[in-house]
Amino acid sequence: MSVIYMDNNATTSTDPRVLEAMLPYFTERFGNPSSPHGLAHEPRAAVERAREQVASGLGCKPAEVIFTSGGSESDNAAIKGVAFAQLPRGGHIITSVIEHHAVLATCEYLEREFGFAVTYLPVDADGLVSALDVGHAVRNDTCLITVMQVNNEVGTIQPLDEISDIARERGIPFHTDAVQAVGKVSVNVDVLGVDLLSLSAHKFYGPKGVGALYVRAGTGMHAFTHGGGQERGMRAGTENVPGIVGLGKAVELAVDETERARVRLAALRDRLQNTLLREIPDVVLNGHREKRIGGTANLSFLYVEGESIVLSLDMEGIAVSTGSACTTDAAGPSYVLAAMGIKPNVAQGSVRFGLGRYTTEADVDRVIALMPGIVERLRAISPLEDGA
Ligand SMILES: *Cc1c(COP(=O)(O)O)cnc(C)c1O
Repeated sequence: MSVIYMDNNATTSTDPRVLEAMLPYFTERFGNPSSPHGLAHEPRAAVERAREQVASGLGCKPAEVIFTSGGSESDNAAIKGVAFAQLPRGGHIITSVIEHHAVLATCEYLEREFGFAVTYLPVDADGLVSALDVGHAVRNDTCLITVMQVNNEVGTIQPLDEISDIARERGIPFHTDAVQAVGKVSVNVDVLGVDLLSLSAHKFYGPKGVGALYVRAGTGMHAFTHGGGQERGMRAGTENVPGIVGLGKAVELAVDETERARVRLAALRDRLQNTLLREIPDVVLNGHREKRIGGTANLSFLYVEGESIVLSLDMEGIAVSTGSACTTDAAGPSYVLAAMGIKPNVAQGSVRFGLGRYTTEADVDRVIALMPGIVERLRAISPLEDGA
């Protein structure tokens, strides 16, 4: 039985076109780009080609792209890099309560160990950060605003253009975690008005363990990984050449296909979501109905554990998730849903359907066919019915 994969917010499979582009850099073109001999030429040129591909996707200059090991490193490098440039004075950082742990834990570390002040902005019931709140939170010593472009659990798209107006006006560097945005909405850095932007290849059909950080020319920040002078002194270490080649190709494909993918996935997602909402009683949609990426539907099935639905679908060869893959080990409902004011008894029944490039109509039909029976069976045996 082949698996129906509907967990594309956690990771994606590598597109065969991306893999094909990478393969020569494991074998005949294995050289170190920094070597003084001929074997360096091809890998060095390939890294620079990939930098141009990423720059073209983001609408920036190639020199503004730093390759990293992925989304978490890009978030860390951006936030610590900008914050450390403020030391020893320190300063104030504005972020939101629904950020990925790579952002939240980094901000908490700067608070705890370096005395930075951090404002964690709330979100509304749809999971949206308010630009007005950002404006009110700004202080004279605010040195960074970091708000994600798209939330990984509910898919809500944040009003970055409004927030960037405030950042621009006050001259504050503005970072966004765009890991969930690439290939789903435009990530043009000038349209978004951001100074730093994180992305990760494995969220858009590239390989795991490689990402990039865009840093607008002139943004004051410290290097994060010290050593050799790679990545213009910002990120030391021999380049992950095959990974970088894959990232470049993946960005090119994802950006080229963004609009087509958005329309196709929104239609599939809406059919899935609307059918489940119609055919199963007591189901609610979490996240904004419109300001949301195409492939994501986070639905709460009342009176059951989302985890039980995930297990039931898994037994049918269907992979979905209850929310963030990084937090499924942690007990208790999602902090993102909690921040949206969703009651624990509703949040615990949440399931995230993450459709992607390889999701077919037949996949959606199979889930639609199975879900009513699964929910009915779980509800019949569920002790949650009474309390909820
Ligand atoms: C997956 C994810 C990350 C982490 O990216 P990695 O490449 O896995 O380190 C960061 N932010 C968001 C929003 C994500 O979805």
